[in-house]
Amino acid sequence: AMATQAAVRVARHVRPDVQAMHAYGVPDATDAIKLDAMENPFRLPEALQAELGRMLAALAINRYPSGTTYRALKQAIAVQDGLLGADAQPDVSRLVLGNGSDELISLLCQLVAQPGAVVMAPAPSFVMYEMSAKLAGASFVPVPLQADFSLDMPAMLQAIETYRPALVFLAYPNNPTGNLFDTAAVQAILRATDGLVVLDEAYAPFAGGASWMSQLDAWPNLAVMRTCSKWGLAGARLGYLAAQPVWTEPLDRIRPPYNISVLDAEATRFALQHFEVFAQQTAALCEARTTLAVRLQALVGSQGSLGANGLDTVYPSAANFVLVRVADTVAGATPTAQPSRASRVATAMRERGVLIKDASRMHPLLANCLRLTVGAPAENEAMLAALTEALQAIP
Ligand code: PMP
Repeated sequence: AMATQAAVRVARHVRPDVQAMHAYGVPDATDAIKLDAMENPFRLPEALQAELGRMLAALAINRYPSGTTYRALKQAIAVQDGLLGADAQPDVSRLVLGNGSDELISLLCQLVAQPGAVVMAPAPSFVMYEMSAKLAGASFVPVPLQADFSLDMPAMLQAIETYRPALVFLAYPNNPTGNLFDTAAVQAILRATDGLVVLDEAYAPFAGGASWMSQLDAWPNLAVMRTCSKWGLAGARLGYLAAQPVWTEPLDRIRPPYNISVLDAEATRFALQHFEVFAQQTAALCEARTTLAVRLQALVGSQGSLGANGLDTVYPSAANFVLVRVADTVAGATPTAQPSRASRVATAMRERGVLIKDASRMHPLLANCLRLTVGAPAENEAMLAALTEALQAIP
């Protein structure tokens, strides 16, 4: 009876859209090779771990984070990313800090979500754009990518004209497809809308220098969002947004005043001081990505070692993951309630101790797609073995 009463209260008071919503799934990774979330697989060298520990231990965690702590971190970021003012000093006025870029996405949506406001993004892309837009009370307009995952420019420009978005998210490189959008296409979007265009550069460390960070002065409606998660600090939760102060000022106004913990802020500043360690790790991951792509390609097509049971496509990637499409061995079959072959392959891989992301239900363009995070070389080999076995086991 108590449970029923509680359910009645929830039904009455919790927003219906939230009641109908699925949680952002964080699957159990116990004892698994974890290749589902684009983390850096490498730890800090032990000497640096010890130094970090001593530094964190000395912090006054009885106090709220201070403006000084945040300013010091912003300065380190500004130096790292070349955000310098006219005086060649780090320009912190163009930065807002977030508890991961997840929080910044949410704050950006809250910033613009007046009645009728529209948030737009290509689809498929990072799922939090849609979730945050809707939670903030804005409408979300997804514009499908083309089959090769490039921007459908006629559709984008038409949607911008029709919906007049306040906010456009472009993940650069895109998640989960791994590609970089065409420069001229992004410029055309920046020109077509007066809304804020956020280039989400979460995967910039793997994109060979491709970035919009140096373009902030050229475009009044450009913001570049980055995160420390993918290059090594996913556990520390630190994202940041760079834009002209007309945007950062109001965004900073709605930021919870202590959104970054002292521990996260200082750990991030420490990591930036030792960035060469992470730069080496990301370089190793870029090499591992090349190796992985070659090994995956050997599973493609009738010439491949798995014949018709192998992969259909290995997509090129400028990020630390590779999207693959599993061959649909029952091609032409009408959709059923049956999980896709890719879903069954993902389950079989988990049974073999490897956790990857089943992307096949995220969007129609991703039918039978799996997203494979690039791990350490030995992890990638274990993943390939599990994938090969799973593809054989599930014809
Ligand atoms: N943007 C993109 C494109 C992502 O893929 C992710 C993480 N998967 C994020 C933002 C969020 O990252 P974080 O909150 O860890 O900064």
